[in-house]
Order: sequence, then C-alpha cells, then structure tokens
Amino acid sequence: MGIGDDPQTAAKAAGTGVNPLTKTIVCSGEFRNSGDVTGSHDTSIGEISQNSSGTGTVAYVFSERVERVRAAMRSKDVDAVLLSVGPDLPWLTGFGAHPMERLTMLVLPVDGAPTLVLPGFEIDGVVDSEQIMTLAPWGETDDPIDLVGQALGGATKGRLAIGDHTWSRFLVGLQRRFAQAQWTTAGSVLGPLRATKDAAEVEALARAGSGVDKIAGELQRGEIPVIGRTELEVAADIRRRIVEEGHAKVNFCIVASGPNSASPHHDTGSRVIQPNEPILFDFGGTTAEPPGQPGYCSDTTRMLFTGEPPAEYREAYDALFQAQEAGFNAAQVGTGAQDVDDAARSLLTDAGLGHYFLHRLGHGIGVEAHEDPYLVGGNAEPLLAGNAFSIEPGFYISDKWGARIEDIVVATDDGPRRLNNSSRELAIVDR
Ligand code: ZN
Ligand code: ZN
Ligand code: ZN
Repeated sequence: MGIGDDPQTAAKAAGTGVNPLTKTIVCSGEFRNSGDVTGSHDTSIGEISQNSSGTGTVAYVFSERVERVRAAMRSKDVDAVLLSVGPDLPWLTGFGAHPMERLTMLVLPVDGAPTLVLPGFEIDGVVDSEQIMTLAPWGETDDPIDLVGQALGGATKGRLAIGDHTWSRFLVGLQRRFAQAQWTTAGSVLGPLRATKDAAEVEALARAGSGVDKIAGELQRGEIPVIGRTELEVAADIRRRIVEEGHAKVNFCIVASGPNSASPHHDTGSRVIQPNEPILFDFGGTTAEPPGQPGYCSDTTRMLFTGEPPAEYREAYDALFQAQEAGFNAAQVGTGAQDVDDAARSLLTDAGLGHYFLHRLGHGIGVEAHEDPYLVGGNAEPLLAGNAFSIEPGFYISDKWGARIEDIVVATDDGPRRLNNSSRELAIVDR
C-alpha cells in the first residue's frame, strides 16, 4: 500500500502526529453499557446476532472480555497486557493489527483505560471498538514506543504480558526502553479465556462448520469430479467454495490422494488422482463477519475412495470410525484432555493401528485454527463447558495409504456437540 502517495491520507497521518494522545476518541451515548462493564452479565449474547446494526451490543461483548482479561491479570499479577499482531487483539477488540513494520499495540493496564497505539492512517479501520478504548494514533515521524510508554504509566516498571505473536523487532525495542519491566506471554492470560467460547462464538463456529460440511457433502456425492484431475485442481474448486460458503479466507486445503494420504499434512500437489485409491480432504477457513468483528475458523476432514475399497482398507477405516466416535463420546465436561485422546487412541491400538496414529487427537479452535485446549497425552486439564476442539484420529501407513476423520466438537453441560455433521462414512465415488 502506497501511503505516502495519497495526499489525503498523508495529510491525515501528519495531522495525527501533532499531539497524538489528545486525539482520543471515546464512547458516544449509544453505547448503553459503557458505564457498567463489570455489572450484570445477563445480557443475552443471542441478542447480538439479532441486532443487525450491532453497534452497542458488540462493543458490550468486547467490554465484557476486557473485564475477564483484567480479572485474569489480577490473578496472575500482571500489570498490563500488550497486544499487537495475532488473534488476541481482534478477539478482545474486533480490531486486527496489520502484520507490518509499523507498530500497532493495545495497552491494557490492569486498572485504567485501554489505549490502542496505531499508525494514524489506519484509524478508519477501527469500527465500534473505539467505544472501549482510547485511540492513540502516531504520525510517520513519531516514535510509537513513546505512546506505549505514556499509556503504560507506572506499569513500565511492572509485569507486562506481551502477545505471543508480537514480532521480536517490537519486543526487543520495548524491552530496551522499559528495562525495569518483567515480561511474560499474554497467551498465559488470554489463552484460557479464549478457550471457553460464549454462545455467540459457538454459533459462529457452527456456521463455519456447516459451510464446510456443505462442500464435504458435494465431494461425497461426486458433485466435484476427482478422477483424472490433479490434487491442486480439486483443491482450487474446494477453495473457491469455502469462500462462497461464508468464509473471508481459506486457511488450508489439503487434498492427499493415494499414497499421499499417508502424510498427515501433505503438501497438495500435481499428482493426478487415480481410480481405486483413497483421497483425504482436510480444509477450513475463517468466517466473514461484519466490520469490527473477528471471524471464526472451520476445519474438517473427510475421506473418499475412487472405487470399491479393498477389505483391508475398509477394516482399518471402520476402526478409525469407531475411534472417532469414542473420542467424541469421551469429550465430556470434566474429562481430562489426555483421557479423550486415550479413548480414541486405545481403539486404534486394539485394531493394530496405534503405531500409525502419528499425532494428538485434537486442537482447540476459535479465532485461531489451532489454539487451547490441546487433546494430547500429558495434558490432564479437564474440559470446560464452551471448549471447542477437533476430534481427528487418523492412521498413516507410509507409501501405502492413510485416513483421518475430523469434526469440530464443543463440550457442553449437556454433553459433546458436533459442529460438523456431514457423513463420516467412507464415501465411494466413480468420477
Ligand atoms: Zn492439522
Ligand atoms: Zn484440525
Ligand atoms: Zn483439519
């Protein structure tokens, strides 16, 4: 983007450079809950999606998240959280930092107003969330770390939690300037909060899931031809449909045919799909949401066979199907994450496939495709209501074939709920 070339933008950026902290934008009267962010949380989250203009209620959700983060900061003795690029900032404020050399940083002190330090010419990208934070735009000749310091106040000598995705060029600059601060990762503060989805987040994940389910159904019914085409050609079709099904972007699309299905993260390539072989499809994206609201991720894996599968494959697939079912059924609130992994793994082990299940059972999912909690041996943390994660057992037999079945599941007090509902059977296609 050629910022310097646009006279209007340049003037605006220069104008914001004079005394940036005086150019604060604070909430207007329409934000009905601004004075009571710590108050009752009984506002129905379901109202948010019904309110199409959304201005007040969406900001309310972000205010509520800010208060949850503050409570976590207090319990972990953190004086301020500093967020830049990565998913924490959009989850907390609806605003995402551009991944570039100009610093964007939210300064959230444990007490006092949050301040968003950002390049002046990006101020128009802040939608609604100015209602929960002061904007501190900087001009091209300003030092943004000065603004971070002003927003931190006395916390420059305290314990600072910095976003896990923050570039080292910024972190090192901040560490040099605030030499007396102690540093920790913001993931330790925000990770557990982001892992527990509210009702609106679950609905966004469900919408994401039904979008990719539709594509899985099209593949299973043979509506997207595969035989004689390259993996990349088929992937291009799927990618286009992911965007058509309500996603702003595609995060990944694995098409792994024949022996390539034995590689869990196969690099989709130019192999031509043959008759009588398995194909693994693993794809997902991030949903398109109104401006000022973060998108949520989809992620599903389904298997096709281009012909009648040999009995050996059929048997292995049946064991995998049972393992996925067992993992799903084990995903109860209160069950340790590793025990869910074990419930699925032990069935594959019994079927003689344990050695070929090469990865953990699942990962959390939300604004990020992989986040807390991880369903893996060694993680004894019990599942909480609102945790959303994949259940994705697989087997991978080198140079031969493989398979995986993956759904996104939410743990609820009424038991696990699948957010992917296309058929989990091995689909036979002939074109
Ligand atoms: Zn993966
Ligand atoms: Zn996954
Ligand atoms: Zn996946």
